[in-house]
Amino acid sequence: MLVSEQSSKTKVQSSGPLRVAILSPEAVPFAKVGGLADVSGALPKALHAEGLDSFLILPLYDQIDRSLLTGPFIEDLEVLWRGKRPRVSIWKSDAMEAPAYLIDAPYYFARGKIYGDNDDFERFAFFCRAAIALLKRLDGPPDVFHCNDWPCGFAAVEIRARRRQEEYFANTKILFSIHNIAYQGFFNPSDLWWLDFSAHTDDFMLKGAASALKAGIIASDALSTVSPRYAQEIQTPEQGYGLEWLMRARRDRLAGITNGVDYDIWNPETDPHIAANFSANDLSGKRLCKLDLLRRFGLPEEPERPIIAIISRLVAQKGYDLIRQAARGILDTGAFFIALGAGAKEYEDFLQSWHDTAPNRVGIYKGFAGEPLAHQIEAGADLFLMPSLYEPCGLNQMYSMRYGTVPIVRATGGLDDTVQQFDPATNQGTGFKFGPHTVAAMLEKIREALYFYKQREVWETIQRNGMTTDNSWSAAARKYIQLYQEISEH
Ligand code: ADP
Repeated sequence: MLVSEQSSKTKVQSSGPLRVAILSPEAVPFAKVGGLADVSGALPKALHAEGLDSFLILPLYDQIDRSLLTGPFIEDLEVLWRGKRPRVSIWKSDAMEAPAYLIDAPYYFARGKIYGDNDDFERFAFFCRAAIALLKRLDGPPDVFHCNDWPCGFAAVEIRARRRQEEYFANTKILFSIHNIAYQGFFNPSDLWWLDFSAHTDDFMLKGAASALKAGIIASDALSTVSPRYAQEIQTPEQGYGLEWLMRARRDRLAGITNGVDYDIWNPETDPHIAANFSANDLSGKRLCKLDLLRRFGLPEEPERPIIAIISRLVAQKGYDLIRQAARGILDTGAFFIALGAGAKEYEDFLQSWHDTAPNRVGIYKGFAGEPLAHQIEAGADLFLMPSLYEPCGLNQMYSMRYGTVPIVRATGGLDDTVQQFDPATNQGTGFKFGPHTVAAMLEKIREALYFYKQREVWETIQRNGMTTDNSWSAAARKYIQLYQEISEH
């Protein structure tokens, strides 16, 4: 592993601050589907605060709030694409402290959504090509080109090829971060030729298709993923999704760096979205947030009854099959259940029918709600359930801890790394963890947590343990910096 969990010392390069270009398909405050957006928004900012010359590049989707942008910054960026040279414009934003550059190509990015079209591979291949064209128009090449997940795989391959031929990119090193190895960016290998990647066919091929993720991993100088535990898990057949052999082969170049929390955004002491602010020293506002949450979801105002909440994409990864099987058992504990989620219809239908059978106990919001409702749930709930099949890092358990909302998680990936099981003998611990992915194990943990919920003093101890845990970005940013320095010096 490249970066040890303990290492945090950084050294400043003599030739000025490291210049890091971060490429991502989504980033807060611009466009968000899941945790990648939180990370891509927070990391450039945290790097900037540590003195790096960091900037972000992402597509200009139609749903992005134009008031965050200035420009056009460049009006005539030529992109070599399918034998032609179309021009795109680039917009800039200073909304994040570190600059962000957004690629305006409406044909590909004005689709009313971020992912989910059959030509996603083409859309993001174009994004990658345009991003590299943009790098040549900025003030000098980056020392590190930091690619995130499969949509950036094409860029890693292209930079690696071009740095052999072009002086400009000769010293640009590539870091590839895997936020979820299950999303592999598959497309038909026959498309490789017109995308100009046919020379790299072997690197793309996986399970009989072309994978932008696999090619990106092979092309990069170093790899990282979003928790130490997940870095280990993706080297196993259970979690490697067919790439475990590659992760094992490159394990000396693979670092596990746990994501941080942007406490400028997720802080109950200052959060503008919640009914009342509160802190570890004064939890009284949390009760008002709970009443507000019950009202928002049309549930009876019974503040003594615990609220178990979940916010997630509605996909099998998040453990929704377990929740469906345990639905009755969960309500038998006497708790309210509040779910916010968007995704697969089968889980939306389940949530709807669960709500319909117990409208006074189950509150649901189907769809992507945007930030305020997610904050209100974090602030108003008592417990936060994350029964994930696998979880590269997970952010909501860390947000929950900050808001005094005790997480109940399955001990996998980043959930295992960031939640400490409560031990009543020592009063240490921030939440509750179960191992087997079974209904019985999950319900057992919910009951255990609710036993302590009824003991107010013990409960407040658990809440405070979580609220005072430091998961800020600065520690993670320093580990990334060390990694950037290691690769840029080789
Ligand atoms: P993942 O990246 O796998 O989706 P994470 O826990 O890392 O999971 O991050 C999920 C992020 O997306 C959190 O910030 C969470 O609050 C947010 N989120 C997920 N679903 C929704 C939704 N339906 N509405 C609003 N925010 C959501």
